[in-house]
Amino acid sequence: MKTALSTLELRRAHTLDDALAIMRAEHRVPIAGATDLYVGLNFGTVRARRFLDLWPLDELRTISAVDDRLVLGALVTYTAMIASPIVRERLPMLIEAARQVGGVQIQNRGTVGGNVANGSPAGDSLPVLAAADAVVVLRSVDSERRVPLTAFYTGYRASVMRADELIVAIELPRVVGAQWFRKVGTRAAQAISKVVVAAVRNESSARIAVGSIAPTVVRLTATERALASGAPIDDAMAALRAEVRPIDDLRSTAEYRKRVTENLVRRFWSETA
Ligand SMILES: Cc1cc2nc3c(=O)[nH]c(=O)nc-3n(C[C@H](O)[C@H](O)[C@H](O)COP(=O)(O)OP(=O)(O)OC[C@H]3O[C@@H](n4cnc5c(N)ncnc54)[C@H](O)[C@@H]3O)c2cc1C
Repeated sequence: MKTALSTLELRRAHTLDDALAIMRAEHRVPIAGATDLYVGLNFGTVRARRFLDLWPLDELRTISAVDDRLVLGALVTYTAMIASPIVRERLPMLIEAARQVGGVQIQNRGTVGGNVANGSPAGDSLPVLAAADAVVVLRSVDSERRVPLTAFYTGYRASVMRADELIVAIELPRVVGAQWFRKVGTRAAQAISKVVVAAVRNESSARIAVGSIAPTVVRLTATERALASGAPIDDAMAALRAEVRPIDDLRSTAEYRKRVTENLVRRFWSETA
């Protein structure tokens, strides 16, 4: 462990109101399941010393269907998503994504709010949430605002969230149409995505979101438009090749990612025909 634990200071919140008041007064770094934060502490990349433990906040653990919206509290874990009949009925692609996150221990601790706030472009829930037109609910001690996930990130692991705000929930409108999810990694479990695609198809439109190919999760809007116009799949793939500009990094080359993205979107289109 590169970070000396004895230099860290932890407060624990017992209600959301407490947590928000502490965030406003002390601007601490919130901790949910700690599965990302602990890795950062281990590698010495987390510089913060003052933390706020959100884990006791059961009010952020609910999954509910309100009118036509599915609402996931920020502390909903992957295990809770997998077990939820509401998620199974409304957003099965989220269950597929959750099943492929880390291993069982990570699924038991890792939360949807943590995945969104951490903002890794390889976060597996993010393409699902982007394809489902999710909204991030941010709350501070005196305000609440709803930001579409597609407008939440401002760059690599950077977002519009303020230092005194917490993600309290993710809201999802009812998804109409066939849902599709694929993660490509080096192995079946405990793998970071090389390319991850989530997509929704209904009669007149397609929504396609891709992770691990850019600094943030991206929606393939030109490809979506081409598919919605009824263009042949090869024309839509020309649009995809023009709009996808993947990154080269230690996990994959840009060329590999581009080809895999195209292969996955072709497969989505044929499997949901
Ligand atoms: C071995 C291993 C395997 C993994 N495999 C995968 C994988 O396959 N796919 C994947 O996507 N991820 C994976 N992860 C990463 C991690 O498990 C997920 O990103 C998880 O969802 C993070 O949630 P958490 O609750 O643990 O977040 P934490 O580590 O507690 O927090 C992460 C960040 O989010 C902030 N934060 C947390 N909650 C809130 C909130 N409510 N409001 C505002 N900010 C908040 C924290 O301040 C921190 O910056 C893996 C991690 C490990 C260690």
